[in-house]
Amino acid sequence: MGIIVQKFGGSSVADTEKLYNICKHIIKEYNKGEKVVVVVSAQGKTTDRLITEEKEITENPNPREHDCLVSVGEQITISKLAMCLKEKGYNAISYTGWQLPIITDSVYGGARIKYIETEKINKQLEMGNIVIVAGFQGINEIGDITTLGRGGSDTTAVALAAALKADRCDIYTDVDGVYSSDPRIIENVTKLDSITYDEMLELASLGAKVLHNRCVEIGKNYEVPINVKSTFENNSIGTRVLNHKDLEALYVTGVAKDDNITRVTLIGLENKIGRTYKVFKLLSDNKINVDTIVQSAGEHTVKNISFTVKNTETKKVLKILNENLIELGAKEIIHCDELSKISIVGVGIVNNPGVASKVFEALYENNINMHMVSTSEIKISVLVNKKEANLALKAIHDKFYL
Ligand code: ASP
Ligand code: MG
Repeated sequence: MGIIVQKFGGSSVADTEKLYNICKHIIKEYNKGEKVVVVVSAQGKTTDRLITEEKEITENPNPREHDCLVSVGEQITISKLAMCLKEKGYNAISYTGWQLPIITDSVYGGARIKYIETEKINKQLEMGNIVIVAGFQGINEIGDITTLGRGGSDTTAVALAAALKADRCDIYTDVDGVYSSDPRIIENVTKLDSITYDEMLELASLGAKVLHNRCVEIGKNYEVPINVKSTFENNSIGTRVLNHKDLEALYVTGVAKDDNITRVTLIGLENKIGRTYKVFKLLSDNKINVDTIVQSAGEHTVKNISFTVKNTETKKVLKILNENLIELGAKEIIHCDELSKISIVGVGIVNNPGVASKVFEALYENNINMHMVSTSEIKISVLVNKKEANLALKAIHDKFYL
């Protein structure tokens, strides 16, 4: 028998009753003879609460102290869960990220895992014990506690599965898998039996909020089979995340919405070599993450460039660009916030020429204007007014799924 990593999110471990409830999933695998490693998040809204309390003290916490604070929720969960399992007659031992250790870089609040020491875990598994590991946290080279970014317990779980060469990683959550769109907005969502890592990456980064982005990246790189399933259903089949989909799977997988997008346009940029480069070099030097970029054809001596950023970056971007207006050779900078990005994702898009026109038809039929379009082999994204975003999401989803 091999190693199985199971991960339970905050809603699955919210109180004592729920902690006892997840024991049945753990014990089920253990009794099959599997070696079980469990990764847990903080209970319920613990992390949010810690951040609220931090804000009472300061709006600008020291990053080292911030990570030390927000990482504590997971430590509470691991010890409690170990106690629950012991009460049920199973031997379990808990570890924090820094006890193992899980070594990360020093980007506090968004650290990346560099290496996981698996010696202690393997030893405990050999002894027949269940191992419980705190998600979301690690330790850097100078011995400070670090955290992996909000939702980072998924990443701990898949990284552990990769390091332990586990057979699979089961991510237990409060929904029964990955759906074709957001069930809170769309009525007729379809549950997906399988989805590829690439599709999942697109959906996660598009605000589908099912899995932490970096956990899918790791899953893809180390070929860890990931199952997303429900904690609260006994025989949840869930969704498998893997390299290739079933032969009969839908060619379009999901439709996602990302609110809070700003489009910035530089007008009257000189149509000369190196102008575009200068703009994006300036932005990247200032650590601004740019998404969609569109450059106009460039009539004669001038061209326009539009790109999108997260709303939270708008002020910073406008300030940087305006300070460098002359240097960049642009006439004017305009922007439009209150936009949303709707994206349709599927590995079959590249082989189905009709997808784009169907997307546009869905918007046309609902009188929705598009501000920008971008496409890749597995994705078509359109920018629409935020107040029409839910309607657009529904229109596009229903065009493909009904
Ligand atoms: N507790 C952390 C958070 O709330 C990590 C996680 O839940 O995955 O972001
Ligand atoms: Mg989560």
